[in-house]
Amino acid sequence: MNWTPVNTYLAALGLPELPREAAERFEIYARRLIEENEKYNLTAVIDPDEVAVRHFADSLTPAAYIPADARKFIDVGCGAGFPGLPLKIYLDAVRGETHTLTMLDATGKKTEFLRMMCEEMGVSGGEPLQGRAEELGHDPARRERYDVVLSRAVASMDKLDELCLPLCRVGGVFLALKSAAGREECEKAATGLAKLGAAPPEFFPYHLPGDQPESLAVCIRKCKPTPSAYPRAFGAIKKRPL
Ligand code: SAH
Repeated sequence: MNWTPVNTYLAALGLPELPREAAERFEIYARRLIEENEKYNLTAVIDPDEVAVRHFADSLTPAAYIPADARKFIDVGCGAGFPGLPLKIYLDAVRGETHTLTMLDATGKKTEFLRMMCEEMGVSGGEPLQGRAEELGHDPARRERYDVVLSRAVASMDKLDELCLPLCRVGGVFLALKSAAGREECEKAATGLAKLGAAPPEFFPYHLPGDQPESLAVCIRKCKPTPSAYPRAFGAIKKRPL
């Protein structure tokens, strides 16, 4: 794999280059993702250079925007582990400490892939979890327990907010990776965000290396507890966004 574009991207964000330990793990992760994809349908992107940029470089973007003291992460609808797992591997290596990461997905095949990946890469502190965000948000051991809630490509912001914010602790951050359309999505979600205890979103546009369209990191601080009525069942979230 060619990690040079990833390092160029990290430098542009003012972040340290990939430590060797992280690059070695990414090498295993990317190779196994492409191999296992034939069995599980984990990713639409299979060209190695595109995997490096669209999965790995993209996943490291939140490192530029999350608080330096954040240690406990959850990735909601992580699929094959993006963005949470590459981000955790990178932060563990650059900060020299283990971050805990819950990798939540509704599909057991995907969490099984992630269990296998953590084992093969020798990653500790990664917890693959099969489940639904709208149910986990009512589990007292999970609700408002996370410093950072991550999510990419799961739902539009007026639904994603209700799936993610109940898991974020007051003072923590919900960070969603979006296309440029993320701004309008947030305008539509403004009432819901406030109801769920969020401060107004901050936007950080970014460009991945190569010929990629503009993306947007949406960073939302949680300033008040989420009322206990939320999250509602998924049908209600979908039909009547807040
Ligand atoms: N974040 C990954 C995967 C995106 S695909 C990436 O960017 O590559 C969306 C994933 O979200 C799917 O794997 C789906 O199973 C999961 N998902 C959708 N709704 C969910 C919910 N309510 N709770 C948990 N996982 C969910």
